[in-house]
Amino acid sequence: MLTVSNYHYIRENFGAPFPSIFGVTPASFEKQIVLLKTTGKFISPDYLTDNLDFILNSADNYILITFDDGLREQYEVAKPILDKHNIKALYFINSINHIEKEVSLVHKIHLVRSQTEPKILLEYIETKLSDCDVKLSENEKQKAVSYYIYDDFNSACLKYLLNFKLTSIQLKNVIDSLFSDKFDSEKIGTDLYMNHQQLQDLANGNMLGSHSHSHFALGLLSPKAIENEMSKTIQFLNSFKENANLTISYPYGTKEACLSPVPQTAAALGHKIGFTMERGSNVSGADKLLLKRFDCNDLLGGKDFKN
Ligand SMILES: [Zn+2]
Repeated sequence: MLTVSNYHYIRENFGAPFPSIFGVTPASFEKQIVLLKTTGKFISPDYLTDNLDFILNSADNYILITFDDGLREQYEVAKPILDKHNIKALYFINSINHIEKEVSLVHKIHLVRSQTEPKILLEYIETKLSDCDVKLSENEKQKAVSYYIYDDFNSACLKYLLNFKLTSIQLKNVIDSLFSDKFDSEKIGTDLYMNHQQLQDLANGNMLGSHSHSHFALGLLSPKAIENEMSKTIQFLNSFKENANLTISYPYGTKEACLSPVPQTAAALGHKIGFTMERGSNVSGADKLLLKRFDCNDLLGGKDFKN
């Protein structure tokens, strides 16, 4: 059996005027590692790809740690903790952050939201796109509240607008302009993502994997665009070191993000393993290009863990 625990932000302090960046602190990360150690055996990325059938068929629990988005804090904060416990993990990166020195839209959204009151942001977007009629109807507002039960009314409406109402082009335009008004893109990029030397170090240990080029939901793209998104990242990864055990984590990892031909394209381009964000452990018969993962919060030691 294979259990995968996935992480994003790992930092000491998540304080922000309007908290919208969530993750785990180094202390809770280490605490979880120690707890997980009692439930199975940690394995390296190479061990996983070389022994996947054996692992899936085994009654023993094999545990892999993964990180999405190529964040510098994963290397500088989490990796030293893993090194201390002699654990090798997989770090999935987006090549757009390096080749085009561009901050991923998903991170721009997090940063813009962390600095702007939800109500103000909501009004700003509705005004800016007033000729496209993006104002939420009463029915949509109710849906928003029922989707985002942990959020206040305005945050729920804002999330609904960003995630379901705006087209990808509207979203990109409005967030790009808000982001460049408030942030120094180059500085954010340097602070947020791993540098060349850190990527090289991970590549040397076969710990670097693909999260595709631009962090799009691949399943919503054309077959050609999916191939493009994957190929660019492979080429970038190969510039550090060619790795026969190539792996990919599909951005967002939802059903829609992993629709056919996403896993087929991944296999055809040489990825040995693909990871989704479908929750669960993997057992005999699992699709190697659509392996399940747990968000760290849902596993033992995580804040949402329920036994
Ligand atoms: Zn991601």
